[in-house]
Amino acid sequence: MLDYLKRMLIVAIMALCVSMLILGGRVQAAEINIYENTDDWYFPAEGEISDVFDSRSGIHKGLDIAGEYQSAVYAVEGGKVIRSYYSPSYGNVIFIHHDNGFETVYAHLQNRMVAEGQIVGKGDEIGKMGNTGNSTGVHLHFEIHKGEWTIDKVNAIDPFTVFGEGEIGQFVFALNHDPYRVIDVAGNLQEVQKEKQKEEQLTLNLTAKPIADRKVIITHFLAEIIGNQSIEKGQPIYVDNFLSSNNDKEEMYIVQSGDTLSKISRKFDVTIDQLLSWNNISNKDLIHTKQKIVIKHT
Ligand SMILES: [Zn+2]
Repeated sequence: MLDYLKRMLIVAIMALCVSMLILGGRVQAAEINIYENTDDWYFPAEGEISDVFDSRSGIHKGLDIAGEYQSAVYAVEGGKVIRSYYSPSYGNVIFIHHDNGFETVYAHLQNRMVAEGQIVGKGDEIGKMGNTGNSTGVHLHFEIHKGEWTIDKVNAIDPFTVFGEGEIGQFVFALNHDPYRVIDVAGNLQEVQKEKQKEEQLTLNLTAKPIADRKVIITHFLAEIIGNQSIEKGQPIYVDNFLSSNNDKEEMYIVQSGDTLSKISRKFDVTIDQLLSWNNISNKDLIHTKQKIVIKHT
């Protein structure tokens, strides 16, 4: 009888353990929302994306932004500086703990402008971009941890999940949640919020009759934001009203990976100078993937 009771007790304890596991798992799952309170974070630096998360066989747990030597590096969100020191690998590095429990890391800095324990605000300059520590060129190595930074970086998340998808070679801008700028139809460099961009591009009338010279080369990017799986990369679509353009003599081209201004000029049989002036581009090296380029038919 005692044996029977013992067994019952063991079964009861095991059942309790299992239910706690399930319950515990549920509670934890509810707490984890990686997008929580990162919606308005600022991008930390200006430059070109030179490496992405999980590259180098998965060991690279951050995003690399190669900008000008000694250009400003900013806190993506307010928080408390929990480390500010020189590490042989990270070089001059700053760790910031944010209220939502996330931690961000800014490495290879030329100098550090904040000290451990200091409270910083969102967008505060915390240091200058450099090439210190284990680094082979001027860049910011930036990490986001959903929780504490640990040596094995298990909490590291892809910064693109916070700032939106980008790619190597893309030019990015600081102090904005969306670091990707586009050129509008009027040729002005504009910062367009992803949502606004989405809305505008959803106004594309895909069923409109083809109108001469209003063809847009659709890219994977465009297909993705339109959310129509049946549109294929490279497929021409005809638009009635693309970004409010009513000009029959304009065409919009979206820069693809590997494009240069001279390639684009050959493609459309126009000159580089025309492209520069139509798009108000002053530095001809500064075109980036997904940038919209206006082509006029003269
Ligand atoms: Zn890196």
